[in-house]
Amino acid sequence: MHNRSIFNSDHELFRSNARRFFREELEPNIDQWENEGVLPREFWLKAGVNGFHCCGIPEQYGGPGADFLYNMVLSEEVGYAIGGASVGFSVSSDIVSYYLLNCGTEEQKQAWLPKMVSGEAIAAIGMTEPGCGSDLKALRTSAVRDGDDYVINGQKTFITNGQTCDFVLLACSTNPAEGAKGISLIIVESDRPGFERGRNLDKIGQKAADTSEMFFSDVRVPVTNLLGREGGGFAVLMDQLPRERITIACRAFAEAQRAFEMTAEYVKERSAFGKKVFDFQNTQFKLAEMKTNLGVGWAYLDQCLNKINEGTLGPEEGAMAKLWTTETGNKIVDDCLQFFGGYGYMREYPISRLFVDSRVRRIYGGSSEIMKMVIARTI
Ligand SMILES: Cc1cc2nc3c(=O)[nH]c(=O)nc-3n(C[C@H](O)[C@H](O)[C@H](O)COP(=O)(O)OP(=O)(O)OC[C@H]3O[C@@H](n4cnc5c(N)ncnc54)[C@H](O)[C@@H]3O)c2cc1C
Repeated sequence: MHNRSIFNSDHELFRSNARRFFREELEPNIDQWENEGVLPREFWLKAGVNGFHCCGIPEQYGGPGADFLYNMVLSEEVGYAIGGASVGFSVSSDIVSYYLLNCGTEEQKQAWLPKMVSGEAIAAIGMTEPGCGSDLKALRTSAVRDGDDYVINGQKTFITNGQTCDFVLLACSTNPAEGAKGISLIIVESDRPGFERGRNLDKIGQKAADTSEMFFSDVRVPVTNLLGREGGGFAVLMDQLPRERITIACRAFAEAQRAFEMTAEYVKERSAFGKKVFDFQNTQFKLAEMKTNLGVGWAYLDQCLNKINEGTLGPEEGAMAKLWTTETGNKIVDDCLQFFGGYGYMREYPISRLFVDSRVRRIYGGSSEIMKMVIARTI
């Protein structure tokens, strides 16, 4: 993760502050917060005081106005932290804040961005439904115009920050006959009558993340809550996805990096057959392969990050980065767990947490199969 020429000394200072923050504020508390199934609001607020939300948001909306690399330093540090997979900052900082910034009205930006920067407001993005995930066009949640309001009916599932969010950016159909061109993005505040949070879902990993169901029953929101133009939601989502996929890629690879580092340390301590586990050639070869894969992966990610800064990252590049880092990252974490033997299967060993936490990276934000479809279209 280090010695990457893309980051300057300010980025690196930011990185060491973030690493310290997660080591001191997250790692000692993660067991308790996993039992509670949610990260406390105070943690969001403390992160806000430290400047860890919405790094790219300009000063006029309360943000630091930094470049996107700061977002990615933070994503990597969240991935590197034990239990970091439960931290849902990215939905607010890397996804929803940019939708607001790039497509929102001045009123929408003023209403939400400063509070998202401070951590006072938590955002969620609601696309997935029980009947549709990969095939977003098939979504059923509807928003019907009634005077100056939309009336929303439907349900969502697997929504990150679902229990704690102050608003959800909701993908709904404003014109079912138009398919993808009938999808719109609407801001739904969580105190609107008819909005209900469902179960905080019981996952195999990311146990302190409040991934939830949401229900909408005749929820009225003013038409001024529409983000961008009616029917333009799908295009906006597709436009922003490459950058979001890089966010996931950075987290996935930082998890693999952490797994590699803790494994290298462990095998130098642990003995079997009268020598250190590190002394077996199998161990050295496997670790050498991991180190190589990590180095190559970070180089490709840096190339993508450069393109994001230039505004030239293509959809297939975002997909290639996500596909490769999540598949390779999961393989590295799995191979690392093997080196811990039975201890690797024990929850008290952080490698076991990384194993279950990182598995989702190949599924959400577009599954590996969907990434291959995106890439194949360009061949
Ligand atoms: C922890 C977690 C957090 C999440 N957070 C959010 C969130 O904040 N907001 C949100 O909207 N969603 C969220 N999701 C949902 C996530 O994005 C979806 O689960 C994902 O897009 C896959 O959709 P699905 O689960 O319906 O699977 P399906 O679409 O039913 O896919 C099932 C399988 O079929 C494969 N498949 C589908 N279509 C094809 C095809 N054409 N060709 C080949 N294979 C195919 C898929 O790759 C997958 O392996 C989250 C999910 C999880 C687990």
